[in-house]
Amino acid sequence: MGESINKGRTIASDDGQNKCPKCGATDISVNPKTGKLRCNFCRFEFEPDLVEDKGPEDLEGTSIGAGASKIEEDAQDMVTLKCQSCGAEVVIDTTSSTQARCHWCRNTLSINNQIANGAVPDVILPFKVTKEEARNRIASFVGRRKFFAHPRFRREFTTENISGVYLPYMIVDMKGHMELSGVGEVTVGEYNVGSDDKKRIVYDVDVYNVSRSFDIEIDDLTIESSSDKLDVSNRTKTNNIINSIMPFDTDNVVKYNSNYLKGFTSEKRDTNVEDLKDLLNIQASDIARYSTNSTLNKYDRGVRWDKESFNISGQSWTAAYLPVWLYSYMETKGSQKVLHYVAVNARTKETMGSVPINMGRLVFMSAIVEIFGILIGFILSMSQTRDSDYTWIFYLLGFIYFMVMYMRYRNSNARHTYERETKFEIKNMQTSDQKIRTMHGVESSSMSEANNKLLKGKISAFNLDDFRDIIGK
Ligand SMILES: [Zn+2]
Ligand SMILES: [Zn+2]
Repeated sequence: MGESINKGRTIASDDGQNKCPKCGATDISVNPKTGKLRCNFCRFEFEPDLVEDKGPEDLEGTSIGAGASKIEEDAQDMVTLKCQSCGAEVVIDTTSSTQARCHWCRNTLSINNQIANGAVPDVILPFKVTKEEARNRIASFVGRRKFFAHPRFRREFTTENISGVYLPYMIVDMKGHMELSGVGEVTVGEYNVGSDDKKRIVYDVDVYNVSRSFDIEIDDLTIESSSDKLDVSNRTKTNNIINSIMPFDTDNVVKYNSNYLKGFTSEKRDTNVEDLKDLLNIQASDIARYSTNSTLNKYDRGVRWDKESFNISGQSWTAAYLPVWLYSYMETKGSQKVLHYVAVNARTKETMGSVPINMGRLVFMSAIVEIFGILIGFILSMSQTRDSDYTWIFYLLGFIYFMVMYMRYRNSNARHTYERETKFEIKNMQTSDQKIRTMHGVESSSMSEANNKLLKGKISAFNLDDFRDIIGK
């Protein structure tokens, strides 16, 4: 495996764009309405230093962008300060920030806690959503979640001091080969068995040997490269919110230039390619495995893959800064503190957040719903000769209501659905589907060991699909 620099992306080598091409002034910052750099002296707006993305097709071996490979100090006016409250490593521009606050917890940063600057990224995606737009998005997101919001949060909520922050990511192009083999099941008949009072449905099932073999090229698989943000199981922060506002339009990244950072803060990258390789490989294999589902439609009972081999033949890593508008709120419950975020993707405007809940009110309302549910369930079971299959839902109505509302406010199941939202291309697909036998009188309606929709690299604190599986039985 040869290592080369920037095969996947060509980055111009000159350091241009630090001077206005028209008047020569160096006072340059980004215009968030257009995402382009603008001279603050003569207002001239210049065309971005585009980065050519060659895509994954011709990849071979591992190539790592200059910014992705090393953690080096650069930046004259950039200083990195460690937040004494939450530990974040915040990069600020000393020429434009008068008072620096941590973008995560709003703690005021002290220049005494300066640490070494991290790596400069290869590319950056400039802000393209103005602060006004972001404030509106955040206000309307919270506005739609008022009834069960914690009263103290409702009093204190303001979008005034949201911060624009560039968060560190790795963008990876990959080329690989996937081999899958296993067993798939198809329902061919269903019928009732047993006597009148003990009737049940059983199924006839065709069993197949299934295999899929194909090449896959994945374009711009994007992953957070801040170790703290990768830890979504952390109960004191709602990190999954930040994960869920992906994807970004990474096709439009430009060559990194510190002028883009003016007026914003950014976060130091504290992980290297080596730290992220395993997760990337797992997510790439998830994308490959998940993609086969479009060829498995006839297996209504599911497919169980018994063997899987995924080989990556080429990959290219690019370190990137991607733009996010961030609102944060610290909820204090006794000694317990939870940091809630509402985040806006500053390119696509995708908004996601977590709102502190007034638990007393939610439990009370759920109890009322539960009582009604039990009443309805009771009436239904009285009026029917035979127990309906769905009467039990009414007995659980209050619990279901609680879960649905909890999820609506906290969004603890939100995540980036990389298996669906990442661009990829399948080539040389070879399929084999061979019927091996028929099973008669099978009791269950689906294949319990099916794993064709399983995701191994899913970054999620809570999984709503699991919840659906529980109540969907
Ligand atoms: Zn100028
Ligand atoms: Zn902080």
